[in-house]
Amino acid sequence: MERSDEKICPSHRIVLFLNLLMDDRPLIELTCCPICGSNAIERTLDVVDHFSSGELFPLMDCRRCGFRFTNPFPSKETIGRYYDSPEYIAHSDTHRGLVNKLYHAARQVMVKRKVRLVTKATRGVVGGKGKQNGPTLTDDRANVTNESLRLLDMGCGTGYFLHAAKRRGFAVSGIEKEQKAREYAVDKFGLEAWDEKRFWNIEPASYHVVTLWHVLEHLEKLNESVVQIKEMLTDEGAAVIAVPNHLAYDARFYKERWAAYDVPRHLWHFTPATLERLLARHGLVVTGRHALPFDPFYISLLSEKYVKSTPLVRWVRAPLVGLVSLARSWYDIEQASSIVVIARKSSKSLGRTP
Ligand SMILES: [Zn+2]
Repeated sequence: MERSDEKICPSHRIVLFLNLLMDDRPLIELTCCPICGSNAIERTLDVVDHFSSGELFPLMDCRRCGFRFTNPFPSKETIGRYYDSPEYIAHSDTHRGLVNKLYHAARQVMVKRKVRLVTKATRGVVGGKGKQNGPTLTDDRANVTNESLRLLDMGCGTGYFLHAAKRRGFAVSGIEKEQKAREYAVDKFGLEAWDEKRFWNIEPASYHVVTLWHVLEHLEKLNESVVQIKEMLTDEGAAVIAVPNHLAYDARFYKERWAAYDVPRHLWHFTPATLERLLARHGLVVTGRHALPFDPFYISLLSEKYVKSTPLVRWVRAPLVGLVSLARSWYDIEQASSIVVIARKSSKSLGRTP
């Protein structure tokens, strides 16, 4: 149970089910919206776990703030088995199959884009606690050699982004709950990667930038996690958070077969507005919004697999859907398939007059 949820919603409770059809695996059911606390929630979509179990999970929408979430969902003690597949490419790093090959090729480009975004987010940020007079990273074209800007990547997986950020001059660390992925990051890149328990013990103001690339939607302790992320940032620091956006064209096209619903691994399904609302609740203000241009193509290809279309249809339609989605995000970032926000501590939360 999330402490902050109890505060906003006294009636909020966890109901443990023993679902006999699912081998007595407990599910958690929320009775109110985790962002605004309203109990006006309604079931809007039933989504099948195409990736792993084949089980069905309902999605609920909050009628007050519009937040969508998987409900009920497996508890943290049992959700591990839903990640248990060799195809979980974010962690296993397999190159099998054309989709995976494309994913890895696109990743090289995306890693560079992510590093550029993080560099942009930290432009003007001066070295923080313990290194107050450290050099400033101000220009992403500069030959940066300083290590005064500390970066933490939540859910760092096999460490490709952290490795690139380290080469760019950041002092990097990662949190990764899966041991194999963590070991890969340590062995292949020599990175510092910790398990998730470490996250809760990080000292306040320890990092200039905290990144979550498609991670927030996985975290059971949603509000507590945002509070902790804010706490570990320096006053000038920035959180860079990427999540799927179900307002995107590809989401509306594939509906319950949209691969980025990815139940039950994705517990929370954001839009730019609901993400902003969640962050604002905890004193973080969004100062920038960006898109990840490959995501609509990758998600559309995966969605076609779930639709069970023929290979011809799949390879013709998915790029078209991806292209329409990408084009829409160019004139309206609210429709980006994946939204990246840069968030900073609000003046109010710092005790300053705006
Ligand atoms: Zn709500």
